[in-house]
Amino acid sequence: MGDFNRSVIFDAIRRAPEGRSRVELVEMTGLSTQTVSNIARRLLDDELIVEAGKASAAGLGKPRTILRLNPEGHYAAGVHIDPAVITFVLLDLTGQVVAHNRLKTPTAADPDHVMARIHDRFEQLVAESGVAREKIVGLGLAAPGPIDQERGIIVDPPNLHGWHRVPLRDALEASTGLPVLVDKDVTAAAVAETWVGGETGTGSFVFFYIGTGIGAGLVLGDELMRGVSGNAGEIGHIVTDPDGPPCGCGQRGCIAVTITPQSMVDEAEATGVLAPAPHETPREIDAQFDLLCEAASNGDAAAGAILDRAADRTARAVAALTNLLDVDRVVFGGPFWARLEARYLERIPRLLDEYSATSAVRGLGVAGTGVGDDVAAVGAASLVLERSFTPSATRLLLD
Ligand SMILES: [Zn+2]
Repeated sequence: MGDFNRSVIFDAIRRAPEGRSRVELVEMTGLSTQTVSNIARRLLDDELIVEAGKASAAGLGKPRTILRLNPEGHYAAGVHIDPAVITFVLLDLTGQVVAHNRLKTPTAADPDHVMARIHDRFEQLVAESGVAREKIVGLGLAAPGPIDQERGIIVDPPNLHGWHRVPLRDALEASTGLPVLVDKDVTAAAVAETWVGGETGTGSFVFFYIGTGIGAGLVLGDELMRGVSGNAGEIGHIVTDPDGPPCGCGQRGCIAVTITPQSMVDEAEATGVLAPAPHETPREIDAQFDLLCEAASNGDAAAGAILDRAADRTARAVAALTNLLDVDRVVFGGPFWARLEARYLERIPRLLDEYSATSAVRGLGVAGTGVGDDVAAVGAASLVLERSFTPSATRLLLD
């Protein structure tokens, strides 16, 4: 229980960039003055927070000491394994990226080789950051689902051929000596939003992730919903287009085959909007997708229509989720989001209003993530911060 109170106090401080006084913390948490004092002392000793000046409330009483997060107290590392690129980040305690690195995902899909490259690049990241290794509390790893969270295994990700049941967590724990957490990239992205997304990361929201695949991260009442096996949010087979193209699952028009960058590129090539080019690898798809978005923003009506159709299907899928969960907002992100943002944000809010079951009661917020393209890597590191320091954590890495 002591640990729980400690994380409650820590969470209240971290959510207030301007800091909080002990008196405010007593009022907010309902804990006794003595308990708050003791916990603040421990947090100061552990360098998680600092005393940052004094403030007086409307000139009444004696000035109160402000407690604030100590950015340099601890750090967390994050690695996002994407079919096209592996991204590495080191975050300070406030969620700021202090070091960043990228590695093209080796095309030879031999997991041992890839794991050795990941380890080397991680060591390089730490060395270049100048951060003392003992201040890094853990390493988070985000990858396309499904995952076997108990064993720390990527089961058989559809877009990473050859990665059948790779025991990533154990291998990286052995090579780095750090605790390693494994989660789906979409889940990690939602955690990034709660840790560093500011206003859009509070309350209840659906994080709609547009990567090589499509997925959702669910946060309800400031808590991440992982599901029974850590695989909540597998939304790829929501049908938005019953007459659409066939999907591997046996249905037609799933969002997995209508709103992914690959499916938009396929459609563009089939209709002559783009000249056919090889797009077997994620990098080739990325390049073709670039051309499609460029054509649309240069006024090519047929290219624009492909993106608009995808936006409409996206809105239908999002509405299925937001009507089910009754959330404050939907937050879009993922590596392809930046290229779609302007067009999607023009179209989707209006459609969601139409599809929303509660539009007569309240509006549904629509936002693009503030975290940027690296949201899954930042999320992977945020997993470590979340597990170490938030009240919902069942295990605390620091203890
Ligand atoms: Zn399907």
